[in-house]
Amino acid sequence: MKRRKFVQLSSLGVFATPLAKFSAKSNSSFLNSAEVIVVGAGTFGVWTAFHLRQMGANVTLLDAYGPGNSRASSGGETRLIQADNDNPVYVQTAIRSYYWWKQIEEMSGHQVVLSTGRLSMSKQESYREQVLSRQKQHRSQGIDNTELLTQDEIRYRWPQIYSDDIAYAMWNDGGPAGSTLMARKGCQVVAGEFEKQGGSLRIAHGMPVLNNGVVEGINTGNEILTAQYYVFACGPWLSKIFPELLPPKLKVQRRDVLFVGTPAGNSQFSHPNMPEWSVTGSGYYGFPDIEGRGLKVAPYPDYNSFDPDTDERLVNHYEVKRAHDFVKHRFPALRDQPITESRVCQVTYSVDSNFIVDQHPTSENTWIIGAGSGHGFKHGPAIGEYAAQRILGNQVNQEFDPLFELKEGSF
Ligand SMILES: Cc1cc2nc3c(=O)[nH]c(=O)nc-3n(C[C@H](O)[C@H](O)[C@H](O)COP(=O)(O)OP(=O)(O)OC[C@H]3O[C@@H](n4cnc5c(N)ncnc54)[C@H](O)[C@@H]3O)c2cc1C
Repeated sequence: MKRRKFVQLSSLGVFATPLAKFSAKSNSSFLNSAEVIVVGAGTFGVWTAFHLRQMGANVTLLDAYGPGNSRASSGGETRLIQADNDNPVYVQTAIRSYYWWKQIEEMSGHQVVLSTGRLSMSKQESYREQVLSRQKQHRSQGIDNTELLTQDEIRYRWPQIYSDDIAYAMWNDGGPAGSTLMARKGCQVVAGEFEKQGGSLRIAHGMPVLNNGVVEGINTGNEILTAQYYVFACGPWLSKIFPELLPPKLKVQRRDVLFVGTPAGNSQFSHPNMPEWSVTGSGYYGFPDIEGRGLKVAPYPDYNSFDPDTDERLVNHYEVKRAHDFVKHRFPALRDQPITESRVCQVTYSVDSNFIVDQHPTSENTWIIGAGSGHGFKHGPAIGEYAAQRILGNQVNQEFDPLFELKEGSF
């Protein structure tokens, strides 16, 4: 690594973290010429394919609609990278992933990380203690930019946010605990780097060919592709891939996302003047205006089951009204602004909301990666790295294995 790059990443706190815990053997230590087919080019699939290729494997990456497509859970404009999790593993994987998102920027020359900061506000006085406790946890894991802000400090820094009813906020000024990832673009950039390094990307729908519970190939409709290992990182489609195994263990729910216009000539709500924001208990979080789309407002509540292939992606009228009501109160200058864009996406939950990185129970050569459970995008790089090592038979980060196993249970 060039000295300049080391200094930049080091100043972001990346190398100050207990990275030794994240075992990432160097490529040359276990070059592997295995043949692998990865189905699905969302965040989990592209990063798994990328790392497998970096480790020397011959990899074919298939996606029915292309990396970061409109139907994919990874297909939105923006996703947050943060480390607000009680489980230290997810803090560790967020830190490791941030390192890789920055690496891919360096490799490709494309920006995929925006240093928006993250402002997590609460009306509750008790939030002060929660922030201080999170600050302590973050410091112990190497994140040193977690701050407690009072109402006066919030009002002074961001007068465009109504904060009279806010008690405290947690503020992270960039880095792995407070940045924005360009989601669709990120998938496309990683897929591009994968191809540059000799990986093969194909637009094709692939279904497993099963013989007595063992995967023997991938049927694209035109041909049967075979390899040593098969990886299915198919997000909300996983239950369609293994209908005998997965449906009771996964739940797919829709989420509406709205963009509210900003007033002409006003950049108060645009990056870098506005951070990524949330209000605990309000049911809303969102992003600043990026690329001129408008302030992104995303409600938390999930709706009923959603078919990622066939359901219409039209925003619910109830959510439009609710978003306007929320915006009028929290961002008064946007009171008369229209919705400028909208999206409908879906999240895939596992029974315990942990990701799944596990072998198919009857097919040792087959891996299932998914169940992003509403927070998977940011972790793609670290999960892909961990998955690639396991697929190639390297016993690393074994403490992650029980967390990411395909659990018994049903919804
Ligand atoms: C509104 C919303 C907001 C979110 N916010 C955040 C956030 O701020 N931060 C965060 O970290 N996470 C967030 N998430 C969660 C995150 O986006 C997901 O966890 C993550 O994108 C899941 O990635 P994936 O690779 O598992 O699935 P996907 O991105 O859905 O990728 C699966 C891919 O598989 C392909 N595929 C499926 N079946 C086949 C087949 N048979 N053959 C070929 N290809 C196939 C699809 O075309 C698709 O490209 C959010 C999710 C939503 C919906």
